[in-house]
Order: sequence, then C-alpha cells, then structure tokens
Amino acid sequence: MSVIFKRTKILATLGPPTNNYEMIEALAAAGVNGFRLNFSHGSYEERDQQLEWIRTASTKLGKPVAILQDLQGPKIRLGNLNENTSVKKGDEIILDHAAEHNGNVFPVQYNLAEKVKVGEPIYIFDGKIRTTVIDIPSATAITLRVENDGTLMSRKGINLPDTDFGGDILTPKDIADVEYGATKDIDYVALSFIQSPDDISNLRQMLVGLGSTAQIIAKIETKAAIKDDVLEEIVKVSDGIMVARGDLAVEAGAEVVPIVQRRIIALCRKHGKLSIVATQMMASMVENPEPTRAEVSDVANAVIQGADTVMLSDETANGQYPLETVAAMKKVILFTQDNAAVAPIHDEIHGKNAQQDAISAAAVSLAEHLKVDAIIAETKSGATAANIAGHRPNLPIISVTSSPRAAQQLALNYANRSYVRPDGERAGLDLAKELKAEGLFGDDGQVTVAIVSGKQPGLIGATDTIRVRVLE
Ligand code: PGA
Ligand code: MN
Repeated sequence: MSVIFKRTKILATLGPPTNNYEMIEALAAAGVNGFRLNFSHGSYEERDQQLEWIRTASTKLGKPVAILQDLQGPKIRLGNLNENTSVKKGDEIILDHAAEHNGNVFPVQYNLAEKVKVGEPIYIFDGKIRTTVIDIPSATAITLRVENDGTLMSRKGINLPDTDFGGDILTPKDIADVEYGATKDIDYVALSFIQSPDDISNLRQMLVGLGSTAQIIAKIETKAAIKDDVLEEIVKVSDGIMVARGDLAVEAGAEVVPIVQRRIIALCRKHGKLSIVATQMMASMVENPEPTRAEVSDVANAVIQGADTVMLSDETANGQYPLETVAAMKKVILFTQDNAAVAPIHDEIHGKNAQQDAISAAAVSLAEHLKVDAIIAETKSGATAANIAGHRPNLPIISVTSSPRAAQQLALNYANRSYVRPDGERAGLDLAKELKAEGLFGDDGQVTVAIVSGKQPGLIGATDTIRVRVLE
C-alpha cells in the first residue's frame, strides 16, 4: 500500500491560451506544481490577475503551488523595423540604441555600445544570423559585419556569447519588476543570462532589502556561467538552477547542453539546491496532441538524472494542447520513476549544515530499508524537506510547515508534497494520521512513516530526530 504521486514536478509557463482561471485550475489539477510568469511580456495588471487566479485555484484544490517570477535580464532585442530586411554575408550593419530603423541602421532595446568590444561575436534571431563587432562609432551605436545571409525582423532576440557584463546584468526593467514582485505573493525569482555568482548576490541584496522571502533561481544560459570554476560557485549562492536550454544552445552550442544539464543536476543535488530542466521538453505538442519519441525520452532522462522539476514554456504559453502536454509529461514521469531509480551521483552531499545532512541521509536510508510509506518532514523554512529531497528518496516526502511560503516553495522540490499546519510537537504524526484517515495511503491496512523533526518545533536548523511510527 502506498501513496502514488509524481516525484519530479512540473512548472508551466502561462501565456494567451492558458491565461484564464479555468485553465489555471485545470492545469494544476492535471499535475502542474508551479506556474512561471514570464516578465519579458505582459503588464502588471495582467500579473495581478494571474496571481489571484493561481492562489484561488490552489486554495480550491488544496494544493500548494509555486509561483516563479522570471526576469528578462539582459535579453536584448532589436527594436521595431519598418520592414523585414535581408542581409548578406559581408554586409555592415549598425545597431543603435538611440535611432529608428533606416537603411542599414537598426534600433536595439539596449545600449550595447556600453558593453561590447570590437571582435566579439553577436548572434541575432536565435543564432540564425551571426555577426562580429567591427567598430563602436558612437556612445549608442555599434557596427557589425554579417557572417551569413539571413533576414532581420522586428524584436528578434540578440545573444552576446563573449560579452562580459561585469556583474551588471539587472536592467532598469528588471529592477522595476523586482520591486513589483517584492510586494506580491511570489515564491521564486529567476534571473536570466547570469554570468557570475555576483549577479545572484546583487539580486539577493535587492530582495532582502525589499523584504522579499522569494528564493532565487539562476538561469544558466551563457558561456560564462558554465565555466568549470564558475558554475559550482553559482550553484552555491543560488537557491536553485534552471537549465535554460534555449539560449544556452545559442550561446554555447546545442551539443554542449546535455552534458551541462547532467552537471547542473548533479551539482544541485550535491549542494541541496533545486534543479529545473527547461525549454523544448515537449515542443512539438505546441501543435500536436502527442509528443515525439525523442521528447518522451528527454523527459524520462531528466527524471532518471534526478531533476527536481521539468518545465514547459511554449507548450503551455502558446500551444494548442496545454492540458494534453501536462498529462503526457505526468505519464512519462510516473512510469519512469516506477521503473528506474534516480541515477546516483558520485559526490557527497554538502549542505550548509552537517547535522542536517546526516539526519537527512539517515532518514532516507532508514525509510528505504524499512520500506515505509512516506517520510514526514516537519520543517519551518522548508530547508529540512529540501535537504531530504536532495538525497532523492524513492518514496514520497510529506512536509508539514506553518509557513505558506515554505509550502509553496517546496511544491517544486523532488518527491515533496507539502501541507500547512501549525507548529507543534505532534505536527508530523497528526498530519500522517489525518492523511491516512482521508485515504491518501489507500485503505487496506497499516501505514508506516518515518518522521523527521526537531526537539524545538518551529525552530529553523534544529532537526535532530527520526522516529518510525506505525499508523493502525
Ligand atoms: P527563456 O529562458 O525562455 O526566458 O529564454 C529559457 C531558455 O533560454 O531556455
Ligand atoms: Mn533564455
């Protein structure tokens, strides 16, 4: 007898087809554990409405869900062009932050002249048009030599794979968005195009200053961030990492991405941080009701590698089959977790707290050895439950916390299902009994749980006890 739910979680991006209460509730009911709000698009009025819909649906379903604010970062785009414009290999074009489109002068939304150097490559339109900086003729303009034929269109994205932003990646728009988010019920802030641990520390300082309790997800999508000595430092200062495979493929080469994905998931497990695999997981389902074999395999591999969360972007933000996509993803996750243990990592786990790590490791080994039905984690900040999840138990973690924020954040953690209850010496045991009475564990016979707790309930970082309890 056991409780069955997916251990790898699903994060879904909202967009036009899913931007209404009914779809949000249906997505959460179908298996979505968190919603990503892409701050590259949309107004604050729309955000307010989405936040309200998500929290209403979550309350109605009795299911904590995470809300992730995804900041645009220095995602630089062309401005509006008068018309689509073909360019040829060898052409020289100018990108000017202060100009309108006119001949070979193209507007750009960011002052690149402040950041780039002559000789650096610049990719336009998802890498379709490759160029090199040959001159910086003014304080707002740069001159590029085009390396291959193609067509420029309004608002296409620009990647700067070798440009160093020197720790200054938050744009004025990001800062306004952080200030807005800090006043809202947001669980995670994701920052795009980070290059160094400093980018995360700067954002952390801002969030703390604004009184936000949101955790920080670093989006890994630049060449600078995947350097050997940099990546692990970024993992250490972040609360979680998103493998942002779309831009990472443009900046570093598509062939680099699978290996980086595996490295990131292993590093996140080693440091007890959240890992999210993003972009094109079920991309063909934007237009088709069934995933391709390759997509099914991609999701299954993320599960086997032990990712906490798999993400949907266009599939739910622009697609024709958002609910079918979530159902397909859930099916792959459930089958895979039942038939393959998460691949071990060969590094020890090193959280910040050695006692916590030892208790978590012991709880998981005891729980698997005794084949208990669930690990119950009493947790205040969520750190105990997240730390246990880092050990990737092949069984559910049921966490109980008095903090709605912690419960919402834990919605994306491996194997977690969280409940908000008052702190207390019997919080875990009482919840286990309640869930048994509700039939969560099935209704035939006894249930055994391992309860992880601290002598002083509600105190952060004081976890010191594992108890095994049989619920008759
Ligand atoms: P984006 O990030 O969708 O915000 O660009 C994810 C990625 O680049 O893969
Ligand atoms: Mn990106």
